[in-house]
Amino acid sequence: MKKILLIATGGTIASAEDGNGLSPALSGAELASYVPEIEDICELDVLQLMNIDSTNMRPAGWLRIRDAIVQHYAEYDGFLILHGTDTMAYTAAALSYLIPGNPKPIVLTGSQRPMTSSFTDAKLNLYQALLYAADDLSRDVCIVFGGVAIAGTRARKQRTVSTNAFKSVNYPPLAYIRGGKIVRSDAFDLIPGLKASLTLQRGATPTKLRSYATINDRVAVLKLTPGLNPQLFYALKDAYDALILEIYGLGGIPDYGDEEPSFKQAIFDWVDSGRAVVLTTQVPEEGLDLGVYEVGRTYAEQPGILHGADMTTEAIVAKMMWALGQTHDMEELERLFYQPVNHDREASR
Ligand code: ASP
Repeated sequence: MKKILLIATGGTIASAEDGNGLSPALSGAELASYVPEIEDICELDVLQLMNIDSTNMRPAGWLRIRDAIVQHYAEYDGFLILHGTDTMAYTAAALSYLIPGNPKPIVLTGSQRPMTSSFTDAKLNLYQALLYAADDLSRDVCIVFGGVAIAGTRARKQRTVSTNAFKSVNYPPLAYIRGGKIVRSDAFDLIPGLKASLTLQRGATPTKLRSYATINDRVAVLKLTPGLNPQLFYALKDAYDALILEIYGLGGIPDYGDEEPSFKQAIFDWVDSGRAVVLTTQVPEEGLDLGVYEVGRTYAEQPGILHGADMTTEAIVAKMMWALGQTHDMEELERLFYQPVNHDREASR
């Protein structure tokens, strides 16, 4: 039987009402006791790492989860992280970069309603997430929620109330889980031998683990809105090493023609000072292409200006924090940023 480590961090799944609003109260062990069917899936150990609303999850918290996984990596076949839904997509992306390409599954789940609520989605999410974590063909970081498995770099919280809270953005879901059955939607059935070789890889011990222990959280996201003042770039210089700018459509940045400084001056000054900018689109789906419109092309080939392509903003934030934690050399930063990890971006820019 597979051995899984459940790492409990809090979230709605663990929450109870104490008169001041929902807040985490139940332990990971208590949550597991609500789903006796776990016994049929795996041997489960529980590590209570913290008990917070994920609103309060910070990059330092990502590193604590990473450290716990690395410390116990050899002892377990897979890991399940119980986490609040609000920032789960960021944590899943961060773990994808901190522990890249690992052959053991690291699954995140939570729920929209507390485990103790009559209409909770917590039991099924916990059950299906463990089922996925214990399956031979599962690997790498992913979110299992509402019957869907989503690559850790492709998830976005899309709904605040409904139980199908997460969406896989610009990439197909890895699998659907119908009751107790995993229906994989990826290439497993198309590439002969892939299934067998993955199963063999999982069986081979010990598994070599690659991981990173440093992060630089001096990264901020700015959303372009009509009339936004480019002075913002100068105001943010002391506090940040990289800005992620969510621009319009397929790729457009204003050039009003009568403004001092212009966006072009402000952005080029930012990158000339050794800081990085990532351009991405604020449109939810289908990504960025700066080459199409005149209002974007000026920025297309400028060193220091990185292209988010079809990545989610959540993944860009985590990837920049991870990459800047490894290097400040702009060429190396670009190399790290453009290298696809856990399905986070299309292979070409
Ligand atoms: N505020 C909660 C959290 O992110 C929401 C949830 O878990 O669904 O911790």
